[in-house]
Amino acid sequence: MGDRKAIFITGGGSGIGRAVALHFAERGWFVGLGDIDKSGLHETAELIGNGFVYSHVFDVRDRAAWDEALEAFSVASGGRIDVVFNNAGIPLGGSLIENSPEEIERCLDINLKGAFLLAQAVGRRMIAQAGGSIINIASISRAGNMGQSNYSAAKAGVSALVPVWAKELARYGIRCMGIAPGFIETEMTASMKPEALEKMTAGIPLKRMGKPEEIASTVAFIFENDYVSGRMIEVDGALRL
Ligand code: NAP
Repeated sequence: MGDRKAIFITGGGSGIGRAVALHFAERGWFVGLGDIDKSGLHETAELIGNGFVYSHVFDVRDRAAWDEALEAFSVASGGRIDVVFNNAGIPLGGSLIENSPEEIERCLDINLKGAFLLAQAVGRRMIAQAGGSIINIASISRAGNMGQSNYSAAKAGVSALVPVWAKELARYGIRCMGIAPGFIETEMTASMKPEALEKMTAGIPLKRMGKPEEIASTVAFIFENDYVSGRMIEVDGALRL
């Protein structure tokens, strides 16, 4: 693979994950994509359209499946993974009183446990290669958003892990960062009712939603700046809850 760097992205078949994949692919990186959505994955790979993209259909809850994908990607990328972007997620809402045990489990498993276990597996590889960056995606909901008990708990969880991992892994040259987006224009927000979308946009100090590319450039900033670690970057148009 020569000097080509490698990024592994979960949820790469859509929205933010796709924008990050395109950003790095355009800059010559080897891109590994994982997603539960096969057609979305295929579309992202087609958009990249060169030989340096490798896509895997898996559910982040299925450890054996992504372990296999990670191994295959690592072999294809020449044994290196420079960045892992823990991005797959679902915005499963519901208040404290409404949430069923199944919903709580599903939301925490996808948004929190999947990211935790994947970082652990990639972290071991990064220790062996003496460097790398792990990036978790959270949300402004990490501060506690009414009607989003599950999601807020999961996103607070992935945020809390960032400084822990950064401190534990710094000695191996590994940095860990998190990004907490506000409202970003993706399929996730496109599914909101127009009235809700308008009301929501009116409440954003910058009066617009963010673009997936603005998350991609934040991932690039994190990679490029060797002295940032253990922190969250809010990309929310000043909306922070
Ligand atoms: P998106 O367009 O829905 O993309 C998420 C991708 O992850 C989808 O392709 C989805 O597949 C996939 N996915 C869902 N569950 C999965 C699983 N169990 N295993 C593997 N892949 C799975 O969402 P997005 O807006 O780009 O969001 C990406 C991340 O940013 C999420 O973690 C989200 O919580 C976070 N975020 C987004 C916003 C926003 O405004 N968009 C704001 C704050 C934080 P399916 O489509 O088949 O479900």
